[in-house]
Amino acid sequence: MVPSPVGHALGGLIVGEVLAPSALILCAVAGVLPDVDFAWGGHNRETHSLGAAILTGLIVLAWKRSPRLAIAVTLSWATHILFDWLGSDDTPPLGVMALWPLNSNFYFADAFVFDAISRRYWLDNFFTHNAWAVAMEIAILGPPAAVLWLRRRRADRPQS
Ligand SMILES: [Zn+2]
Repeated sequence: MVPSPVGHALGGLIVGEVLAPSALILCAVAGVLPDVDFAWGGHNRETHSLGAAILTGLIVLAWKRSPRLAIAVTLSWATHILFDWLGSDDTPPLGVMALWPLNSNFYFADAFVFDAISRRYWLDNFFTHNAWAVAMEIAILGPPAAVLWLRRRRADRPQS
């Protein structure tokens, strides 16, 4: 599980700030949603692919009739695949099924930009390790999200 939902939500927020400021929550949710596959125990498979990102965008397009929003949701979803690809992974198969349905290979950057979130709650360092991992995600993704948010707020303010 890499990174935590906090990091993935920030990825969606960054895309939303640029493309769909009126739908930030939807973009944040799209950034987190690929991890729904934990529910059936098959992490990093079909939901972690550009195919799934595009499919989700098409669903949003049919639902909201907004190409811009559909692109924002597709890219928010894609940040999840990007971050998991860049992150750490200690459970084989490593990486994400990024190009499904074109192929079912797993891709892994071996970059370890984000620390793996531990689910081994019985270990002594479970809390400190995960708190540190989430803090690093916020340190990496928080500043661009904050800068974009501040810029938009300034642009929204009426000129005096
Ligand atoms: Zn994931």
